[in-house]
Amino acid sequence: MGPPGAGKGTQAPRLSEHLSAPHVSTGDMLRAEVAASSNLGLKAKTFMDAGDLVPDDVMIGMIVARLQADDASDGIILDGFPRTVAQAVALDEALYNSGGSIDLAVSIDVDRDVLINRLAGRATCKNCKTPYHLTFSPPATAGECDKCDGELDQREDDQPEAVKNRLKVFDKQTAPVLDYYRGRKKLLSIDGAASPDEVFTSLVNAISS
Ligand code: AMP
Repeated sequence: MGPPGAGKGTQAPRLSEHLSAPHVSTGDMLRAEVAASSNLGLKAKTFMDAGDLVPDDVMIGMIVARLQADDASDGIILDGFPRTVAQAVALDEALYNSGGSIDLAVSIDVDRDVLINRLAGRATCKNCKTPYHLTFSPPATAGECDKCDGELDQREDDQPEAVKNRLKVFDKQTAPVLDYYRGRKKLLSIDGAASPDEVFTSLVNAISS
């Protein structure tokens, strides 16, 4: 968990590899629905472009279905879910019904000014999803992925107005979820200001201790 730009989408795939557990990003799932122009994608796009949350019933249905897939039986790394207390409660219920529970909620903490700078330059390869920052970690050739030569893309919701709204939405709707897990002694907070490698090391160390 963490505000937009904290590094969830950078750390979660690494953790997924490290723990051999599937990475489940609700943002990625929604972007795939938008790209496929499905009914769900068309419904979600308006909310996403504005930086608002997609309604809880849609998100809960999506995750409950994903939890039932075979590859989820030994655990998954959730990225971007839950983002409201209603989602957290529904997740606990769904896991309880299948004999499981949340092991840990990890909050990646980063100052607001750092987040805004990160989001303003964020770009991702359309093809292999490698993340870049156009100022801090640009590709060798402008607009082209170093790994696969794919085209780089900047998210619609990384535009300044949407970013402002996403941060507001985080404070209002998602920060209470941190309290939800804190109250259940499941919250681990790590400092996300350092480089991706350093954050990953502290993430792995914190989880194993
Ligand atoms: P992300 O890639 O996690 O930043 O998500 C991008 C956008 O997808 C968010 O700004 C929301 O519009 C939507 N979204 C992703 N996950 C959720 C969720 N758990 N609940 C509601 N909306 C979500």
